[in-house]
Amino acid sequence: MELRKIVGLFCLIGILSVNGCGKSMDIERQQENAGMSLKKHMEAQKEIFAMDTYMVVTAYGENAQSAAEAAIDEIQRLDALLSIGSEESEVWNINKNGGDVLSEDTAYLLERATELCKETDGAFDITIYPIMEAWGFTTQDYQVPAEETLKTCLSLTDSTQLIFDEVTKELSFGIEGMKLDFGGIAKGYTSSRIIDIWKEHGITSGMVNLGGNVQTLGYKMDGSEWKIGIQSPEDESTYIGVLKIHDKAVITSGGYERYFEQDGAMYHHIIDPETGYPAESGLVSVTIVSSDGTLADALSTALFVMGKDRALEFWKLHSDEFDAILMTKENELYITEGIKENFTSDMSLEVVNK
Ligand code: ADP
Ligand code: MG
Repeated sequence: MELRKIVGLFCLIGILSVNGCGKSMDIERQQENAGMSLKKHMEAQKEIFAMDTYMVVTAYGENAQSAAEAAIDEIQRLDALLSIGSEESEVWNINKNGGDVLSEDTAYLLERATELCKETDGAFDITIYPIMEAWGFTTQDYQVPAEETLKTCLSLTDSTQLIFDEVTKELSFGIEGMKLDFGGIAKGYTSSRIIDIWKEHGITSGMVNLGGNVQTLGYKMDGSEWKIGIQSPEDESTYIGVLKIHDKAVITSGGYERYFEQDGAMYHHIIDPETGYPAESGLVSVTIVSSDGTLADALSTALFVMGKDRALEFWKLHSDEFDAILMTKENELYITEGIKENFTSDMSLEVVNK
């Protein structure tokens, strides 16, 4: 787990704490709800380390405690399926055996991911794992791979070579040695699943924070919107701005989240599947705002790879599905028009219209 992420998350909670969320573990408490009559309401908060990051779930209302517990169960269930490093996981077995009959969740994610690979012209590709391994991102034994190694890995990075039977859910690889990596989409899917489970529990207010990837359900208990700080890529203790939203996922990708340095150069964990190198697209941070957490997570990675111009063209075609906040390495900030009223920042910014 990256220290920056822990710090970033605590800072985020810091901002949110003005809303009454605490930092302590497994809290169940009753609070006066001044905004909505004098009725008392419950808050339940739980923390867990999973999917290589620190996670906090906070549910409100009568069934808050059981909802928070159900969220933790769901995180553990999905981690056990999707974790690439754990030898017990479904994905680990798929990668080892060159395919398998997939569970319902993994089949759903595979279908979404391959569809998004097509839509993003290959910027998002879950067959990226051999490249992640070559750079040492999977073991933290970092190195710049030899050209020959990268060439071999690039030939294995091609979602069109996934052979999947939608009826039997059987997956096989068109090229031997291919490997899947759900790291760019798993957390968004997990937060979406938790929100669905909470709705089944009758929860109408809650927040899921999976290592800084946030998804909210409804409004805060006082009826106001959630305030989400978007971390600055340069300094984890400051924000490029604050978003006020409800019923949305807010998911950020940045090269600053995981990287290593060698011979004065910095290499981060978001890879351009065209080149096999960390994406040098001119963007340093991409935030996606969407009611679909799975989509938001995949697109935060994809738009980072695309760079500003391609990303904004893509947004124009899909503006009913998401909004975006893009920051370039020159510290220029672009936000799409759907969230212009929801975002406040001390930085100057450009609103992008359709
Ligand atoms: P984080 O997981 O740090 O929040 P992202 O959502 O951007 O950030 O996911 C980055 C992860 O996605 C990488 O660690 C790797 O597992 C995977 N990945 C990297 N590049 C790509 C890509 N082009 N397409 C799909 N997945 C990717
Ligand atoms: Mg992502």
